[in-house]
Amino acid sequence: MDCIFCKIAAGEIPSERVFEDELTLAFRDIQPQAPSHVLVIPKTHLASLDGLEDPGLAGALLTAAARVARDEGLDGGWRLIANTGSDGGQEVDHLHLHVLGGRPLGRMLSS
Ligand code: 5GP
Ligand code: ZN
Repeated sequence: MDCIFCKIAAGEIPSERVFEDELTLAFRDIQPQAPSHVLVIPKTHLASLDGLEDPGLAGALLTAAARVARDEGLDGGWRLIANTGSDGGQEVDHLHLHVLGGRPLGRMLSS
């Protein structure tokens, strides 16, 4: 399958890995939007959050994101983003969670 994140998971495309376990891989975004910008992906292909049905995998992804945030030292806070589908602004069709932090991120939703 011609999927860039599958190739990163397979080690066919280089990436700066910061964490991995049996189900997940975390690596630095190539175009960081914050001092810390890490992508957390499932090692097996899943197009987006839309197709996520496995609570075990969901937990593994969230746990990996929290672990990455701690390891990055994001004590002041951080943000998790999962762009999903075209309206959601998703550009790479392999489920990924963005972990962003290291600067004030502002408010995304007005109240
Ligand atoms: P999306 O817009 O799909 O939520 O985010 C895709 C993210 O993947 C973008 O932030 C983009 O910079 C990142 N990205 C795209 N190609 C590569 C790559 O080859 N390596 C890494 N490390 N990040 C990538
Ligand atoms: Zn993939």
